[in-house]
Amino acid sequence: MAKKTLIIGGVAGGATTATRLRRRDDAMEIIMFERGDYISYANCGLPYYIGGVIESRDALLVQKPEVMKNRFNIDVRVSSEVTKIIPNEKKIEVKNRKTGEIYEETYDNLILATGSSPIKPPIPGIDSGNIFTLWTVPDTDRIKAYLTEKKPKRAAVIGGGFIGLEMAENLHEEGVAVSVIEMQNQVMAPVDLEMANLVQENMIMNGVNLILGDGVKEFHHKGEIIQIELTSGNVVETDMVILSIGVRPNSELAKQAGIALNKKGGVLVDDYLQTSIPNIYAVGDVIEVTHYITKDKTMIPLAGPANKQARILADNIVGDKKTYNGTLGTAVAKVFDLNVASTGLNEKQLKAMGKVKNQDYFVALINQKSHAGYYPGATPLTLKMLFDKAGKIFGGQIVGQDGVDKRIDTLATTMRLDGTVYDLQELELAYAPPFSSAKDPVNMLGYVAENILRGQVSFIEWDELDALLADESKKNKYTILDVTEEMERMVFAIPNSVHIPSGEIHQRWKELDRNKMVILYCTIGVRSYNAARILLQKGFKNIAVLSCGSGFYKSMHYN
Ligand code: FAD
Repeated sequence: MAKKTLIIGGVAGGATTATRLRRRDDAMEIIMFERGDYISYANCGLPYYIGGVIESRDALLVQKPEVMKNRFNIDVRVSSEVTKIIPNEKKIEVKNRKTGEIYEETYDNLILATGSSPIKPPIPGIDSGNIFTLWTVPDTDRIKAYLTEKKPKRAAVIGGGFIGLEMAENLHEEGVAVSVIEMQNQVMAPVDLEMANLVQENMIMNGVNLILGDGVKEFHHKGEIIQIELTSGNVVETDMVILSIGVRPNSELAKQAGIALNKKGGVLVDDYLQTSIPNIYAVGDVIEVTHYITKDKTMIPLAGPANKQARILADNIVGDKKTYNGTLGTAVAKVFDLNVASTGLNEKQLKAMGKVKNQDYFVALINQKSHAGYYPGATPLTLKMLFDKAGKIFGGQIVGQDGVDKRIDTLATTMRLDGTVYDLQELELAYAPPFSSAKDPVNMLGYVAENILRGQVSFIEWDELDALLADESKKNKYTILDVTEEMERMVFAIPNSVHIPSGEIHQRWKELDRNKMVILYCTIGVRSYNAARILLQKGFKNIAVLSCGSGFYKSMHYN
């Protein structure tokens, strides 16, 4: 007899599992329950509909229930909330949210694809018609209607994660003056502070009122105006608030059914995506995953992993034995004029794991052009990669305007195939001047990593230089050498630096004290590296190049 599969949740994980199942088993009875009115919608596109970049609301609705029925013979029930799972009777209880009717449905296989929901902490004053979260199509409609009807002049986004920043950008596009309030000392938690600084500098250039290291204590309502009282005591006045401070898994049903959860409420699944109860499976934001690099258990709520798990699970339900091998957390976002992307572990995570720089892990931080410099339109890319002594790559982060996505994908692919920094050097990547350079920025990461591992170059990071400059006791132990041209030096110079343009190093290196550490810098780090190589071959022992040069150093002090 044909099997019957029930799916709870009808968006990324649920809809993908349903259609893959149908493609694998035409006889299976498949019913998909969605408590909302929409299935398979483009949650990732919601901020862009609010900002008017996506003009048609219909474009967000990727798949409609009728189409799922006609094309895939899937019984889709919207406005249908699953309220209970009764595992020992292999049945669920469903409430029709339109009619109030409650009924039961039996299953052979049950799939939880219930996703996650935005966190709404119990802050006084948080329940108000002009404080919004953005997660669903109705959330989007509410925000859009508020913008159209009330024409707010100011908005505050609480939370500097990718959804918060996408909303900040899209509200700004709508002509709203935006404040972003973030409790941490940086936006975009998946990247390290220096990479976030680049994004922050650009947000401020775009007129965003960026408040870091401060949280919300209370919302005070004065008519339609909201006064946000911060923990610092400062007050931000605004006409609307978007709360975007993270998500929690929708696992109440699983908990009630006795399915094992982790401390954060994430559903535990085995490698085949089965929960602790037979015949019940789970995919997407609701599950705990294995981090591909650390092999630790974690939560990584992203669309790509949800879709991949869904396909694997559907195949397993029809008899395959495929494993889900973990998540790298590869992500990309557009924030005003910049794109920011990351994959794997960042340096904050490595430090939290007790790993020590230049011992357990190494950092390559470089500045490259998005394509050949001589072809018009090349823009800078800042790339950071973390790797170990053997060349294993822990993670990468990229900020820039053009070509960020393909470089992070190349890095993520290499990591996924367990490639090393040496493999990055060998990747043969498509090149013509409008697209890249003969040595792609990812190849360059590999070269720089090898130089670091072989001791052919040492870098000093912007904050390490700051610490050195602030340390009076070390004042006579180093020379800061500016190798830029006179014109560049007139624009910016690090205080107390000496100046020898890179073209004169061969002649003038004897002016430098070999017993002192020499810290070289130029604008992006290339000329200073070349000069460092000369000095090393002249017998200087203690040489460091300022990572990414003075341009990056200046960005680190934007505020
Ligand atoms: P969802 O797609 O959220 O689907 C879960 C569904 O289950 C929901 O529709 C919910 O109503 C339903 N449900 C829950 N409980 C029940 C119940 N008891 N009965 C019936 N139905 C139920 N990810 C990226 O990788 N890149 C991006 O750019 C990106 N941008 C995003 C932007 C926004 C604004 C949002 C909201 C998310 C974004 N994401 C992005 C995250 C991505 O959308 C999620 O990771 C992905 O949708 C998770 O898929 P899922 O199937 O687990 O959950």
